Amino acid sequence: MEQNTERKHVAIIGAGITGLSAAYHLQQAGHSVVVFENSSRIGGVIQSSTKDGFLYEHGPNSLMVNDRRVENLIQKTNLSSEVLVANKAANKRFVIHQGKLNTLPSSPASFLTCSLFSFKAKLRLAKEPFIAKRPAEAGGESFADFVRRRLGPEMLEKAAGPFVNGIYAGDPNRLSTNYAFPRLFALEQEHGSLFKGMLKTAREIKTGKGDTNRLAKREIISFKNGMESLPKGIAALLEEGTLFLDTKLGGISYNKKTKRWHIDWKGKNGTIGQGSFSDVIITVPAHKLEELPLEEKVLDAISRVPHLDYPPVASMMLGFKRSQVKHPLDGFGMLNALNEKSKILGALFTSTLFPGRAPDDCVTINIMLGGSRTPEHGKMSESAMKASAMDELRRLLGIQGSPVFSSLVRWEKAIPQINIGYSSILEQLKQCERKFSGIHFSGNYRGGISVGDCIISGIKLTEKISS
Ligand SMILES: Cc1cc2nc3c(=O)[nH]c(=O)nc-3n(C[C@H](O)[C@H](O)[C@H](O)COP(=O)(O)OP(=O)(O)OC[C@H]3O[C@@H](n4cnc5c(N)ncnc54)[C@H](O)[C@@H]3O)c2cc1C
Repeated sequence: MEQNTERKHVAIIGAGITGLSAAYHLQQAGHSVVVFENSSRIGGVIQSSTKDGFLYEHGPNSLMVNDRRVENLIQKTNLSSEVLVANKAANKRFVIHQGKLNTLPSSPASFLTCSLFSFKAKLRLAKEPFIAKRPAEAGGESFADFVRRRLGPEMLEKAAGPFVNGIYAGDPNRLSTNYAFPRLFALEQEHGSLFKGMLKTAREIKTGKGDTNRLAKREIISFKNGMESLPKGIAALLEEGTLFLDTKLGGISYNKKTKRWHIDWKGKNGTIGQGSFSDVIITVPAHKLEELPLEEKVLDAISRVPHLDYPPVASMMLGFKRSQVKHPLDGFGMLNALNEKSKILGALFTSTLFPGRAPDDCVTINIMLGGSRTPEHGKMSESAMKASAMDELRRLLGIQGSPVFSSLVRWEKAIPQINIGYSSILEQLKQCERKFSGIHFSGNYRGGISVGDCIISGIKLTEKISS
């Protein structure tokens, strides 16, 4: 990033991956930065733990690297030697349909010959390039309607529905195509067809045209010691004195005349501090915005944002002796088809994905429960969750006996749902940013929820502040 002539003094609130990416890139661009974090650790939802020879994640299990900017950041962190690329088996994905595991086809040939999709669904898919584009409209279209219209109902039920479970733990009938799946939306808008758009984009990436940040090779990665290595690696690149952990903010006020932000805080051991900043980047989750000591008029300006839906998700890691599991676990994991009656959302075969997740004679399976369509399953007692998970694992994977390892992480408010109506939330954020110069709202509820998207949001903020 180029050195900027005007040096800005920037406060970042929240040391999750969005805040850390912004901090690193802003410092690289020559700005002065402090990061306030109210907990004692960095990384936000990216947390890795080890116990009894098992390594498990509380939040993300992996990161998809399909953008040069994300790849560059990882190279800068000196984590290159710790990067683990997902096992090739991860290309295989299973869908639970009518109580059985089915392999999701991964190529046109396997799609034509698979038994998961009916002949009618295959014919319907072939029509996609000839279906007229629907003009973009203010209200937007739900993801379910979009997929049904372009690809047919079976593709929604058996492919797109499970995909939505895996990313958002969301409800495709409510998720907005425009904002939750902007790339798919753009393919239709720009090329009139998803297939035509995908082919053209792939050609452009190969020949170095189009979006030069997109990588031809998409890799799913993690790190030897888990995903938490990434925020730790970025934090190690920050200048000394950048991070204020265990810090409670006392006030964040705006001076209209000077167009500067005044922040006071109470740090670890009761130390009190204050500072004046040209810019404040707020990266806390939307549902936490009201807890910030922001001026009433700022909070009024973003009144709808804290009400964004964040359904509960529970992440249960179960470990078994390899000999207890009949199934080879030769894939990324398994996800429910849309109308499948099940108490789990799906499961990841984590010890297949990356080495070092379990002792040599063991395997791990990460089960997700809850989400938008079945939030009650994310709030069950631990014993009820385990019983539900074991019912499914016995039936689908032929697992015998009890797990030799188990851990449960509950996210009461897990993932923001970018549903129909999100445009009014976005509009409030933009209006607030116009009204109060120097304030910026970022984080996974704006610009994409994946770890890679959050890294890019930090880069885009740096470009905006530097411009
Ligand atoms: C269970 C789960 C599984 C996921 N799986 C994947 C996956 O496999 N791959 C993938 O790419 N993505 C995945 N994601 C999504 C991705 O991990 C997140 O979207 C991303 O890490 C969010 O980063 P963030 O910095 O925006 O927010 P957060 O990580 O929420 O960070 C916000 C930070 O703000 C701090 N904060 C809050 N209030 C205050 C305050 N008052 N003052 C100061 N600081 C405050 C918090 O303590 C936190 O550190 C998953 C998410 C979850 C929950």
